[in-house]
Amino acid sequence: MIIPGDRVAVALSGGKDSTALLLLLNQLLPAWEDVRLIAITIDEGIFGYREETIQSAELLTRQLGIEHHCISFNELFGDSLDTFLKGREPQACSICGILRKKAMVVGAQRIGATKLATGHNLDDEAQSVLMNVFRSDLPRLVRNSALNSSGIFIPRIKPLSLISEKEIAMYLIQNDAWRVLPECPYTSYALRREVRSLLSGFEYKHPGTMFHLLESKQKIEHYCSGSVLSAPLHSCRKCGDPCSGDFCQVCSLLQSLGK
Ligand code: SF4
Ligand code: ZN
Repeated sequence: MIIPGDRVAVALSGGKDSTALLLLLNQLLPAWEDVRLIAITIDEGIFGYREETIQSAELLTRQLGIEHHCISFNELFGDSLDTFLKGREPQACSICGILRKKAMVVGAQRIGATKLATGHNLDDEAQSVLMNVFRSDLPRLVRNSALNSSGIFIPRIKPLSLISEKEIAMYLIQNDAWRVLPECPYTSYALRREVRSLLSGFEYKHPGTMFHLLESKQKIEHYCSGSVLSAPLHSCRKCGDPCSGDFCQVCSLLQSLGK
């Protein structure tokens, strides 16, 4: 995933997964020359939650001596997530997800990154497969990886995608890096929360379920390659970003939010 000469932007929320990711990469990288890690934190503007995780990210990067940049929704999109979500709370995670992805790409571009590393773990990946199936969103299920290899974007890497949430927790405890942090107030609206508890029940009763879901995704991608689902992307008519329709998700969303 990482080669000599890479400048890796590490998406660091300050939470468990991204903390483990930065610690691990920092431990592994001294063996490789010419690879540089730079942490990027996105401040969505979630009152009572993000402040503490940002502090935790700042502390970690200071301890490790890693360059750290923070980008806010306010700066990029003109308002905080809290403001965008007034009256739209049930859509919190989809709005947040679209804007955060864009903010991370902007952050990675600003620092001239050649890779963008995120802390998605096995549980996250398996949950996403199931959520895309529940929503009947096959294009998204297939397109995720296609985007990574298309050469249009800074390649995204997920070094922890085969590591479970439990293993990450054990790693943090062993390395004395476990912190109790507040939970995002919008998680109660998240479909992911329900899928998470459903999947952990399955994984407990039928070990390997999460790996099998990832394998299913890879097989579906394989069979769909070359089909209309993985068709080349257009350019957004407003911002020029690659997208599947006339306008990208970010521009369509910002317009619906009155921006
Ligand atoms: Fe954003 Fe939802 Fe995560 Fe909160 S739980 S940070 S709203 S994606
Ligand atoms: Zn656009």
